[in-house]
Amino acid sequence: MKEKQKAVVVFSGGQDSTTCLFWALKKFDEVLAVTFDYGQRHKLEIECASSIAKELGVEHHILDMALLNQLAPNALTRDEIEVSEGEEGTLPSTFVEGRNMLFLTFAGVFAKVKGAKHIVTGVCETDFSGYPDCRDIFIKSLNVTMNLAMDYPFVLHTPLMWIDKAQTWEMADKLGKLEYIREKTLTCYNGIKGDGCGECPACHLRKRGLDNYLKSKGE
Ligand SMILES: [Zn+2]
Repeated sequence: MKEKQKAVVVFSGGQDSTTCLFWALKKFDEVLAVTFDYGQRHKLEIECASSIAKELGVEHHILDMALLNQLAPNALTRDEIEVSEGEEGTLPSTFVEGRNMLFLTFAGVFAKVKGAKHIVTGVCETDFSGYPDCRDIFIKSLNVTMNLAMDYPFVLHTPLMWIDKAQTWEMADKLGKLEYIREKTLTCYNGIKGDGCGECPACHLRKRGLDNYLKSKGE
């Protein structure tokens, strides 16, 4: 009998991870979602993730990572720090040192307990914001480390690694979920779902990608 392929998706309720969730639902027999609660500015982000998971009938777990805020106060967790786009060559104020490494490692511990080999994350090198733990070489290195650390054949999947925001919208469209992702996901730093506030760096990036994709499609 064919082994059931089970995957854990690192899920924030944003455009990228929701696209990954749909990708995983198509590819694997069983999918679980994990969301990390690290004192985000907007509890709305977690509520958004929960409501999407519920709507899709995906088992959803919220893991408490409050310690991240103790280690690395930054604009995503502290209201008094302003969200800004980093100057050329510097990291933006939303950067949390080591965040993806920690998230993926915890997702791995969780996945092994749940009997899931596959871990899916929406990290991406293309819109590279300078996060060293989003790079492909890091993901490959961590994959090896996790396999050794837990003696388990994890496979880390990064379906967005080499595509830009426009191509991420294209992927959503090919999965038949463009409208769903456009309306129900939350990317905006000001906590507004869908097309967002239109003013913050996350909204700019998301809109530019969507406009480029729709234009390339001739809409
Ligand atoms: Zn916004």
